[in-house]
Amino acid sequence: MDCLSIAATGAAMSCCFGRGWLAVVVGVGLDDPMKYSALAILRHALTGNRSWKPVWRQPEPRAAYDTVIVGGGGHGLATAHYLAKLHGITDVAVVEKGYLGSGNVGRNTTIIRSNYLLPGNTHFYEHSMKLWEGLEQDINYNAMVSQRGVLNLCHSDGQRDAYARRGNAMRIAGVDAELLDAAQVKAMLPLLNTDNPRFPVKGGLLQRRGGTVRHDAVAWGYARAADSRGVDLLQNTEVIGIRVEGGRVRGVETTRGFIAAKRVGLAVAGNTSRVAAMAGLRLPIESHVLQAFVSEAVKPMIDCVVTYGAGHFYVSQSDKGGLVFGGDIDGYNSYAQRGGLPVVEDVMEGGVQLFPAMSRLRYLRQWGGIMDMSMDGSPIIDRTPVEGLFLNCGWCYGGFKATPASGWCFAHTIATGQPHALNAEFRLDRFATGAVLDEKGVGAQPNQH
Ligand SMILES: Cc1cc2nc3c(=O)[nH]c(=O)nc-3n(C[C@H](O)[C@H](O)[C@H](O)COP(=O)(O)OP(=O)(O)OC[C@H]3O[C@@H](n4cnc5c(N)ncnc54)[C@H](O)[C@@H]3O)c2cc1C
Repeated sequence: MDCLSIAATGAAMSCCFGRGWLAVVVGVGLDDPMKYSALAILRHALTGNRSWKPVWRQPEPRAAYDTVIVGGGGHGLATAHYLAKLHGITDVAVVEKGYLGSGNVGRNTTIIRSNYLLPGNTHFYEHSMKLWEGLEQDINYNAMVSQRGVLNLCHSDGQRDAYARRGNAMRIAGVDAELLDAAQVKAMLPLLNTDNPRFPVKGGLLQRRGGTVRHDAVAWGYARAADSRGVDLLQNTEVIGIRVEGGRVRGVETTRGFIAAKRVGLAVAGNTSRVAAMAGLRLPIESHVLQAFVSEAVKPMIDCVVTYGAGHFYVSQSDKGGLVFGGDIDGYNSYAQRGGLPVVEDVMEGGVQLFPAMSRLRYLRQWGGIMDMSMDGSPIIDRTPVEGLFLNCGWCYGGFKATPASGWCFAHTIATGQPHALNAEFRLDRFATGAVLDEKGVGAQPNQH
């Protein structure tokens, strides 16, 4: 804000220089101390940083809400935000068994992209990309959205043809895509091994608007935005039952008592089968572990997201300098948030094959998250046979990028009782009707994908 605009808004500003300190008193724009801005940081700094408020409230559960969202991950919190902001539904509680962001939203490798082939997916993920592009302004929170590009490498002529087809489909749908040859890829990534005799790099499909977003900031930002509109965020509150009477949902049993609700939305990712079973639903979802890894910090060596087309490996470099990477799911059903050593070895092999320099890095941390794998690799955002009970799941290992659009569409579906056109194909009954959305390579067979 320059002096003119301060004057124009009636601010009173007095500056006093002496002993190296500056005091600024500004009379407008500061009524809401939780509105983040450079001016707010300055004001708090000058008052000893004693007036920051908690980022969200810690309310006691009320006896009843209009809507209860089960799951305080990215999707649940985004749903609450859009319910409040776009549909004016603020009588909402998000019920989370742990702390906000303790699930997959804080465990993923932070990749966002909208490079899908099938129309049912393309428009949805592109909507998500557009929401990412405006997210920080929307929720007044720095989520470190970094559109550094996502490059899918191809290693055979057939794979390049498939990428050309996907890129063309994306461009027809208005999504950016560029097909690169091997020389262009090498120019982008000098440390990439392009000459492996078995899997030489023939080129790649680049989406420049893809990239990374700081994952836990997404949870915190949506939580703060929802809370500021009156949504109650109930942490350490596990749903242990779903009350259904006469085919209609009546509320949820929790470790802090019964909470009545006219509408209940499930957004519990890897725990979907367990929670849905509380309402008598058996779903086409399997739970699998996916691991992620971070190396020690090094100088910049990879400035986009790279995925390996001949194996299952993806890597980017965080702003702190660590390589963030991952690979396949572990391949057995589990609810444990940790994985096994065979996948660790497989991921390291993929990394070293692509970037031989990685063999000299030490890796710092590794963890796992529980994936809600659907049988065609595509999500479900829909009503259920239980009146008033809604379902958001099936994100496989790609649901982080979907967070904004998932919340947006789920909020629409809950508020109106009908799916939006963007999630019209993410139907629960598609596994019975056969209208599956089988996007190759994203999980048609959870054990092979
Ligand atoms: C290692 C790893 C890497 C990944 N990499 C990427 C990536 O790069 N890009 C991408 O797009 N996607 C990625 N994903 C997938 C993505 O993280 C998930 O698909 C997405 O986060 C799932 O949605 P969510 O954020 O709502 O899930 P979660 O954060 O898991 O939220 C679900 C919440 O429900 C809560 N819950 C469960 N049961 C109950 C209950 N009974 N009562 C109350 N609360 C309950 C859980 O505690 C949890 O907090 C990755 C996932 C993992 C694990």
